[in-house]
This record gives sequence, structure tokens and C-alpha cells, in this order.
Amino acid sequence: MKKILIFVSFVVSIFVIGLVSLNSHSVQDRILDIGLKNILSSAEPFLDNEDTLKVVVCGSRSPLPSPGRAEACILVEAGDDIYIFDLGNGSMDNLTQYQVPWPNVKAVLITHMHSDHIADLPDAHLQSWVQGRDSPLMVYGPEGINLVTKGFELAYSADYQYRNEHHGDDMLPMSIAGFNTIQIIDNQLIPNDTPGLEILPFVVDHYPVNSAFGFKISYKGRTVVISGDTIHDGSVQKYSKDVDLLVHSAISIDIVERMRGVAPIPQLDKILFDIQDYHTTIEEVGEIARDANVKHLLIYHSIPTPRNALMERVFLRPIENIFKDHTLSDDGTIVVMPVENNEIIIDKIN
Ligand SMILES: [Zn+2]
Ligand SMILES: [Zn+2]
Repeated sequence: MKKILIFVSFVVSIFVIGLVSLNSHSVQDRILDIGLKNILSSAEPFLDNEDTLKVVVCGSRSPLPSPGRAEACILVEAGDDIYIFDLGNGSMDNLTQYQVPWPNVKAVLITHMHSDHIADLPDAHLQSWVQGRDSPLMVYGPEGINLVTKGFELAYSADYQYRNEHHGDDMLPMSIAGFNTIQIIDNQLIPNDTPGLEILPFVVDHYPVNSAFGFKISYKGRTVVISGDTIHDGSVQKYSKDVDLLVHSAISIDIVERMRGVAPIPQLDKILFDIQDYHTTIEEVGEIARDANVKHLLIYHSIPTPRNALMERVFLRPIENIFKDHTLSDDGTIVVMPVENNEIIIDKIN
């Protein structure tokens, strides 16, 4: 009994000392310094020593809101070079939190010009400028992408000026403010300096979007296809034959119809009806992955993006008996494919 009392008084003493210490300014300052160092420290999981093809989901949701998630964004790292496919709203917060090293970002590639794929381009411009890129931000996109980047340049011209004057031309040179914009051509490789890397754009059908692309990325024997937004017209399946990873958008007609049944305003009901005719259903995504013999399927831009485990189960119900090797991505889902072997490692950035 005496031993127990001694032990309890010891634990209480430690607890009290801890509480008192937390009120000490010097202890607070030390803990804060450690926290800040962790927040601003190295660029894990990027720039490691392994030669891999890596996919990071920097935005997993569609325009239908899902708290804590960003709109469409897929980061691909081949060796030490980074390419970012789409920059939807919120994706720059994720990329900043993941400590993406912008000097290693070689280009941003836009699948199509819906707002949920381009909204964070201006923030990408600022982050890369601050981190010392040496030329205007390279952007590849479909027909009309030039108008988008010119529009952002116009909208942010005062911002460029203010920041240049405040931080100086050495840090933020006006000569590289803005975008270097190149229009994507169907089936023409995106030029790049990354040894062993090929990025092949292919047209997908997202009508009435008049120009939309998917991409096939090949790096030293590892392969990824990104669908962008599209109906199932056969293109994604054709380019996905035997790939390691298919990153595909998907709509659950079942859940969208249920949402229509409880839509509080007629406008939402109409939108939920209209969006059904230009996306690939979750069943079709499973069939594409199965018929193309892909090794793993990563679902993103889910419509709607599940908010909890139950909704996730209902969303995935139609695919369970079609294609087993799938992952419904979250923001921060990471897929690592070493060039040395055939492994596909699925993880999550904390
Ligand atoms: Zn979209
Ligand atoms: Zn779209």
C-alpha cells in the first residue's frame, strides 16, 4: 500500500512540475523553437536518395466540398525532378505543408481549364518565385491556357510590383515574374530534361470542355497514367495498358442521385444532374483498371469525395467485385515505385 502511495505521489509530482514548467516562458520558447524547426525543416518525402517514380495526391476532391481536402492536384517526382498536374483550390496549402522544393519543380501541367484544376496557379507562381526559380513559371495546358496565365498575370500585376519593391529585385526579379506558357498537343511528348522521363499527353472527352488531356508518365520502366476529368471513351484504357499505377477520377451515380433527393435548392439538384454526363463512373473506372491490366488503381477527384468511412464504403461498393487493387486517395496519399524493382508502396504524408 505504501509503495502504491509513493508511486502515485511521484506521478502527481511529475504532472505538477510539467504544468508549472509549461507556464515558464523559457520552456514555452524552447518547445516553440522545436515546433517551428519541425514545421520549416527538410523536404521529406522529397529528394531522398532512392531512384523512384513517386506520386503524391496534393488534392483529392472534386468541386463538391469535403472539409480538409483540396481540389484536383497530382504531384509526380521522377528522380529529383517534380512535375505538378493541376492546381485546384487548396492544393498550394498542401504543397507548402509538404515542403515541396520549388526549385525542383520543372513544370505545372494542366489537364483542362475547369476552375477546380487551375485555381491555385497564382500561389504556385508566388511560392516558386520566393524559392528562387530562375525563369517564369513553366505551364503546359490545353488550347486557351495562354489566356488563363495572361489573365492571372494581369490580375496579379500589382502584387508582383508590390513584392518586387518590398523584397528587392535580387530576391524577386521582375524579369521572371509571370508564366512561360506552352500549349499541349495531342500525343506530342512534353519536352523535359529529366533523364529517363517521358510525359505523353492524350486527348480525353470531357465535353463541353473543348480541350482536355490525360497524361502517361514513364520513368525508367515505371509507369503512371493520370486521367484528368473524362467520360469513359476508351482513351484512358488504351494508354493504361499494363501500367503500374492508374490515377483516375470517378463519380458515384448512386450517391449523387441520393444527394439530388435531399438537395435543399433546385440549382444544386440541376448541377448534380448535369455533372453525371461528363465523368467516368466508379464502376467504369474499375472496368478500365481490370481490362487494361493495371497493377494498382488510385482514385482521386471523387464525386462526391467521401466524408466518412460509411460514405467511403458506399462509394466503393460498385468496384469491390470488379477490381480489388485500388486505393481511394486522401490528400497526402503517396505511391512510391522504385526503379530497381516492381514494388508499389502506398503511404501517407503526415
Ligand atoms: Zn474537375
Ligand atoms: Zn472538369
